[in-house]
Amino acid sequence: MILLRSTLTALLISLLLVSCNAANNTAKIEQQRSLLLFGTLIEISLYGVAPALAERAFAQLETEFARWHQNWSPWTDGELAQLNRALSHGQSFTVDPELATLIREATDLSARSQRLFNPAIGNLVNLWQFHRADEKDIQPPNASRITELVAMQPEMSDIKIQGDQISSSNPAVQLSLGAFAKGYAIDIAIEQLRRLGIHNTVINAGGDLKVSGQHGERPWRIGIRHPRQPGVLGWLDVQAGESVFTSGDYERFYMYQGKRMHHILDPRTGYPSTGFSSVTVLHNNAGLADAAATALMIAGPQHWQEIARAMDIHAVMLVDATGTIYLSPAMAARVHLSAGDARTLVSEPL
Ligand code: ADP
Ligand code: MG
Repeated sequence: MILLRSTLTALLISLLLVSCNAANNTAKIEQQRSLLLFGTLIEISLYGVAPALAERAFAQLETEFARWHQNWSPWTDGELAQLNRALSHGQSFTVDPELATLIREATDLSARSQRLFNPAIGNLVNLWQFHRADEKDIQPPNASRITELVAMQPEMSDIKIQGDQISSSNPAVQLSLGAFAKGYAIDIAIEQLRRLGIHNTVINAGGDLKVSGQHGERPWRIGIRHPRQPGVLGWLDVQAGESVFTSGDYERFYMYQGKRMHHILDPRTGYPSTGFSSVTVLHNNAGLADAAATALMIAGPQHWQEIARAMDIHAVMLVDATGTIYLSPAMAARVHLSAGDARTLVSEPL
């Protein structure tokens, strides 16, 4: 009897150990899925999730990202493309509530950025054709066409949103969400994972990312690319709930008569911005970080603090054409710079 009891106890203990180990193993498991969408590689990492739940989450996000790509890109035949067609004919168009919300948020951010982030300049973006930047003999568009499009002053404030019905008082408005949609999608995706009970995640879209919860025992460390040299300018540890977004003039560009023609356009001139060569924003809201990184590229050394304050950005690093690094104090406290001889200026608190 005693023997039997001790055997039973041993059996129970070993069963308990097995289940503890299984729980520990799940806690340590990192599962990844990559999607080639939004013009980049989107890597979704989940920590401590049972394989069946992870599979369900990956399938859901794959469907969602593909749907967002289809509906929010001007290059597909999806909702945004149809909306743009209607707007160019002075007609209104009813969109999905999801796209209506996105357009409302983009309108708000555009106003806060003093229209430097201006997703209404789709015609200019289209004219520049930066998706062809790798082709030989590519040239900037005709100067008079650029002047013409700028003179039409397409702005988000031209758009009227009544419920889900969108119209524009300016037929020159064409929406191009490339500076914002990726961040916005990542925020929603992280929220969807949370609703599935998955709290420890990283979604990384080509170096622009959001971290939620814990990443195993280590923080998520991200390198910030040097805009002019191979390698990194520095690195920072991204904490739970934070996103880091970088915009740069080295991502999609070509050289023309010694000038760098890159894909971030100054809506006031219609030409590529000249303010900074790269801007890295740290913020809890990925959509905001994405839009702000683009706006601050254009704001330049004279105006970046004003625009950052208006957009509620506290932690930002900016690199100008001479290689000088500008840091807000909140970013200076977080970033570890490796570029030894670069001139570094820390601003007043934002
Ligand atoms: P990436 O998407 O490469 O990370 P950004 O977030 O800075 O870079 O977005 C750049 C894209 O945004 C461009 O390719 C273009 O489609 C669009 N764009 C360019 N200039 C502006 C602007 N001033 N405001 C809003 N969108 C812009
Ligand atoms: Mg952006």
